[in-house]
Amino acid sequence: MNGIQDGVAIVSGASSGIGRATAKRFATEGAQVVVADIDAEGGEETVSQIESDGGDAAFVEADVTDEADVETVVETAVETYGGLDFAFNNAGIEGATASTDEQPMDNWNRVIDINLEGVFLGLREQIPTMLEHGGGAIVSTASVAGLLGFPNLSPYVASKHGVIGLTKTAAVEFSGEGIRVNAVCPGVINTPMVARTKEEDPETMEATMAATPIGRLGEPEEIASAVVWLCSDDASFVTGESLVVDGGFSVQ
Ligand code: NAD
Repeated sequence: MNGIQDGVAIVSGASSGIGRATAKRFATEGAQVVVADIDAEGGEETVSQIESDGGDAAFVEADVTDEADVETVVETAVETYGGLDFAFNNAGIEGATASTDEQPMDNWNRVIDINLEGVFLGLREQIPTMLEHGGGAIVSTASVAGLLGFPNLSPYVASKHGVIGLTKTAAVEFSGEGIRVNAVCPGVINTPMVARTKEEDPETMEATMAATPIGRLGEPEEIASAVVWLCSDDASFVTGESLVVDGGFSVQ
């Protein structure tokens, strides 16, 4: 895609699912990729898949809730590949399900820390480095749960609404300085996260799929296409947007 080739990308949560598919897509388009995740085995596997397709990637074991780790990821991009053009803040967890009145505090804190504070720490670290290197584009993973309410998922829903708010704010602050900031809102995507949810609550998952007009789960590669497009020059006037990629789930 236009403008991706020879760029440097960071992808968090890149050991699995949407993150892995997006890291691979950046590499296929000719970017050098820093693969960041707490899961070292999965991260090394992503790198090896990229390398066997002829791409270039490096793994950093990093927890998105740890300021020093987030700094190391950005430093790795600069030291290994000479800059930072694109960042995909994608690491996230679904958390445990419970109604709002019965939410355990530790579940609330964990989901908010990873899904919301993790994105904030990423933006805070990536923006100054992009400013030093002539600008860039950032995408963070929200969800249709950033737009709608879902029962028993209050921390997840709150965290994803928060990602959309952070995205709008950073876009207002930095679009004039050459950094476009967007979010992507996936519907139900065929990843290990959804496989876990399916196992725990098959009925809700069946109902969710039935409510998707396109009639199937999305594939991680379909989110990767949207993310890499948002980072490309083809999206040069798109900023502050939360792009819904959900097979029509949220329109009815
Ligand atoms: P996944 O479980 O397959 O992948 C998530 C990755 O994040 C894993 O590799 C995991 O190790 C990593 N991770 C978790 N906590 C981390 C931390 N503290 N630091 C660094 N890495 C961490 O899930 P996925 O479906 O690919 O989800 C990716 C993103 O997409 C998440 O933000 C999720 O909320 C969002 N999302 C997924 C769906 C879906 O249907 N799959 C829908 C909407 C939004």
